Amino acid sequence: MLELNPKAPTGPLEQKWEQHKFSMKLVNPSNKRRHSVIVVGAGLAGASASATMAELGYKVSCFVYHDSPRRAHSIAAQGGINAAKNYQNDGDSVRRLFYDTIKGGDFRARESNVYRLAQVSVSIIDQCVAQGVPFAREYGGLLANRSFGGAQVSRTFYARGQTGQQLLLGAYQALERQIALGAVNMHTFEEMLDLVLVDGHARGIVTRNLITGKITSHAADAVVLATGGYGNVFYLSTNAKYCNTSAIWRAHKKGAAFANPCYTQIHPTCIPVSGDHQSKLTLMSESLRNDGRVWVPIAKGDKRGPSAIPEAERDYFLERKYPSFGNLAPRDIASRAAKEACDDGRGVGPGGLGVYLDFADAITRLGKQTISERYGNLFDMYQRITDENPYQVPMRIYPAVHYTMGGLWVDYNLMTTIPGLHAIGECNFSDHGANRLGASALMQGLADGYFVLPYTIGDYIASNKLAPIDTNHAAFKEAEAAVTGLQTKMLGIKGKRTVDSIHKELGKIIWDYCGMARTREGLTHALELLPKLKAEFWTNINVPGSGEALNQELEKAGRVADFIELGELMCRDALHREESCGGHFRVEYQEAGEAKRDDEHFAYVAAWEYAGDNAAQILNKEPLVYENVHLSTRSYK
Ligand SMILES: Cc1cc2nc3c(=O)[nH]c(=O)nc-3n(C[C@H](O)[C@H](O)[C@H](O)COP(=O)(O)OP(=O)(O)OC[C@H]3O[C@@H](n4cnc5c(N)ncnc54)[C@H](O)[C@@H]3O)c2cc1C
Repeated sequence: MLELNPKAPTGPLEQKWEQHKFSMKLVNPSNKRRHSVIVVGAGLAGASASATMAELGYKVSCFVYHDSPRRAHSIAAQGGINAAKNYQNDGDSVRRLFYDTIKGGDFRARESNVYRLAQVSVSIIDQCVAQGVPFAREYGGLLANRSFGGAQVSRTFYARGQTGQQLLLGAYQALERQIALGAVNMHTFEEMLDLVLVDGHARGIVTRNLITGKITSHAADAVVLATGGYGNVFYLSTNAKYCNTSAIWRAHKKGAAFANPCYTQIHPTCIPVSGDHQSKLTLMSESLRNDGRVWVPIAKGDKRGPSAIPEAERDYFLERKYPSFGNLAPRDIASRAAKEACDDGRGVGPGGLGVYLDFADAITRLGKQTISERYGNLFDMYQRITDENPYQVPMRIYPAVHYTMGGLWVDYNLMTTIPGLHAIGECNFSDHGANRLGASALMQGLADGYFVLPYTIGDYIASNKLAPIDTNHAAFKEAEAAVTGLQTKMLGIKGKRTVDSIHKELGKIIWDYCGMARTREGLTHALELLPKLKAEFWTNINVPGSGEALNQELEKAGRVADFIELGELMCRDALHREESCGGHFRVEYQEAGEAKRDDEHFAYVAAWEYAGDNAAQILNKEPLVYENVHLSTRSYK
């Protein structure tokens, strides 16, 4: 069993982070340049961490598989970023953001981490404004806010529907500055394929150059993974096509515990699937629910167009079921309500898998110009994809996979169970419990990268006497051989199936049995199907070409192999958690259609430990102790 020490500081909640910063060891400014850190990923988490650590004086090497750090999936984030600034004077505070996040996550996140997140949220906005991020402003010049799900205050800062892009440009410029100064060594087109441990500590990585196929080792004093989420295990998701699990999965296989893998977020407002040909789904930002009203016809099988259905024959089901939060009910709840309406035969559009998101009232009240200023690019995007004009007819939306709350287990210092290996941003499990509230992923990624990791990594470096090593060390040679061996094996199968066809099959299994509704029977069945799919992969895939050049099929094969194993762990995790909480809805555990938690038996983080290729992972538990909030049944009514 692993020793899971969350290292949450003692003392009053409000003072934990301050006290911890004081008690951590520091690295003398002139010594920092003697220490090297590898960062994998340059999304909001990785770019902010790399830039900040380089600014502090560390020697940073940053790796991405993209052609530029600017391509990271963070660029897709639309709606906004939360911060407890209380600019609206509507009752917000650090405490309220903390409470909303804990409650939004259905009481399955660690108190100390979430409180720190709420505390540093206010600094993020100042940092980004100083970098020139063009947040929306009120007429008088103050920063504007809008509301996101699960909150009754307006605390979401935004830049039209391009918040992620603008924030990433800020972080990217900070990173570029350090690259130009020679403080960050930027490696593009390099995919991390293994983690290297020396004497039990993370000391480097092995990468493959995606253009030349060259396998190379890189050594450092510490390694940081900032590699994003694994929603593409479902094949269809709102994630960029490249997003994958390989970096964290391979770290898991080297000893990093994987926490709460089954907690995935299904976002309620996405453009419905239109057919078998699709490889990607499109999000319509949650911000649209500030002004859009969600409804379906009251009558089952009503085939009339939306304008032919009078008010009295519409069911604004979120407003009806959750009057206090209405259309801004949290994502898990809004998704389930949409699924319920469609399962009830009241869905709209082809196949009945859609609900309306209607702006008619808002356009009448505020005018088309205002709606266009708020959401113009999202409306344009919707029209380009569906060929329907959302200013004239309601959008059609349906839930889709969007975000993964699970990830590598980390302690308060954002360190995994492997000493020296840190995980930040979406790839760790930390702050969102069983359901993430909208606009809080950007907040967490930037909190981790700008304000938490740069402190805690210093403590790790100052507290450990790390022997100098280089990539001639046997551990690097072994890892390189393993990476090459795996590649040769995949290229040598020469079977009949494309990697995509296996990925599609995997996605369907995970969506059907480990998606929005999960049952013991379904999960057990999935656990029978997945080993067969894995065997099919390893005997019947066809990866053309060689490893010595650009080979996107080979890249995909490695990622899909990892997704299959992760899918199995997700199902195992979902099966063992005999309760419903947040995005994890076990059909057997519900009360009046709402998730029924079991705090007595499941108020813990499930941290799975790798036990070898042919053995089931071992479950380790980190108990969740709530000293500052009362564990209550989540209600948005
Ligand atoms: C469509 C969409 C809209 C969203 N909108 C919002 C929003 O409005 N507000 C909000 O808070 N959240 C939003 N989210 C969630 C949020 O965008 C993500 O959680 C967040 O951007 C993740 O940032 P990250 O830095 O952790 O990872 P990413 O931005 O995904 O970056 C991952 C990085 O890791 C690199 N990488 C990964 N694996 C490897 C490897 N093996 N080797 C080398 N490099 C690797 C990639 O090249 C990339 O640079 C949205 C998500 C989606 C899908």
